[in-house]
Amino acid sequence: MFVYCINHFHRLTMNSIKIVVVFSLSFLFSNSANCQSEKSFIREKINVLASPFFHGRGYVMGGEEKAAQYIAAEFGKYGLKQVGQNGSYFQDYEFPINTFPGRVFVSINGDTLNPGPDYIVNAASSGMTMEKPVKMKKIELSSVKDSIGWDNVKKKMKLGGAYYLQNADTPTKYLKLGIRKFATELPQGLFIVPKHGKLIWTANQNLEKATIVYIEDTVLPAKPKKVMVDIENKFIEKHKARNVVGYVPGTEQPDSFIVFTAHFDHLGRMGNEALFPGASDNASGTSLVLYLANYFAQHPQKYSVAFMLFSGEEVGLLGSEYYVGHPMFPLEQISFLVNLDMTGDAKKGITVVNGVSHEPEFAMLEELNGDSVYVKTIKKRERTSNSDHYHFSKNGVPAVFIYGMGTIGHYHDVFDVAEDVNLDNVDGLAQLLIKFTAKLQE
Ligand SMILES: [Zn+2]
Repeated sequence: MFVYCINHFHRLTMNSIKIVVVFSLSFLFSNSANCQSEKSFIREKINVLASPFFHGRGYVMGGEEKAAQYIAAEFGKYGLKQVGQNGSYFQDYEFPINTFPGRVFVSINGDTLNPGPDYIVNAASSGMTMEKPVKMKKIELSSVKDSIGWDNVKKKMKLGGAYYLQNADTPTKYLKLGIRKFATELPQGLFIVPKHGKLIWTANQNLEKATIVYIEDTVLPAKPKKVMVDIENKFIEKHKARNVVGYVPGTEQPDSFIVFTAHFDHLGRMGNEALFPGASDNASGTSLVLYLANYFAQHPQKYSVAFMLFSGEEVGLLGSEYYVGHPMFPLEQISFLVNLDMTGDAKKGITVVNGVSHEPEFAMLEELNGDSVYVKTIKKRERTSNSDHYHFSKNGVPAVFIYGMGTIGHYHDVFDVAEDVNLDNVDGLAQLLIKFTAKLQE
């Protein structure tokens, strides 16, 4: 049995681990790939997907495409069936995307800042190259609480100027300007915006006139006066993206599908230096889906079990939206769908989004988990639109989104590295999903 070896290992008591047993155990592990535990399988895949080779699985240096190729090769190894274009695992589509493929440089008062930890460039920004440092004009925004005040401020901004926007949180809060709206409002020019707290990067399919740099306020000098930037952007009208889909045919009811999904894309790189590895988001969910694909390929079920790894999620659920518009088998044949996003740390348990609207299935999970058999707690939440279950749900497919409740919590930053994904309880989650799959077919 696939997980037998690790269970066997757990059952060994300390007393029985003598040299001779340790020897035979290491023989067991090295002898058969099928005996790899959930954790070591998932660990290995996260290490691969979050490595610099994949460039953050985004839009520069072919990172996303490389990851798609890697996943398809894994599907092939497991022996999954293909339903994609020309007998492949792929579903190709395209979308516009703004990228930062080259130089990203920012200095304040002559000190060069570190891209990623010290600052992020708003993802919809135009590029800008300065030959020498320029003086910034400071604009204080703490009193701007209505649109008249905001319009007056905007009138002061000259095309191509360099501005230091102090307390930009005030107008964004009062005028409900999200980052996107804020960027749209500003003219062509450079805007340095100090930010208090965590810097979170995104991906964006729009291109705005302004170049906006959010800087962590603790790295700024007391009096930021001069700025110099060299930011190279490239707007790609038709970025070629692909989803990767494979399945294991059911032995009794092949037209009914249980589906596991995850997004494999992440933010990529912000210039040459800043890499966003996306180990938790979402090499972790991708690796869990790969684990399940390998498991079910060796343990076919009554129903077919499909595995869908989506791209374009970070830009706005584009891969799953495209899939739902162009399904590879009828959506009505999906009896249940589980989307896995950020499942690398389940120390405190898991949350099931849509658990409220799918009460019988949620109860099934709770019953299987009993007295914390697999994970510590299982929480339920109402609908959300923040991951790839969303478009399926919207189109009537019974779907939940499961994420881990952990402790570390790197998110959309350069620190989301493989070493910090602790995989606490993730073996339990994998086992719970396998049991849940069986239960769904009863
Ligand atoms: Zn994300």
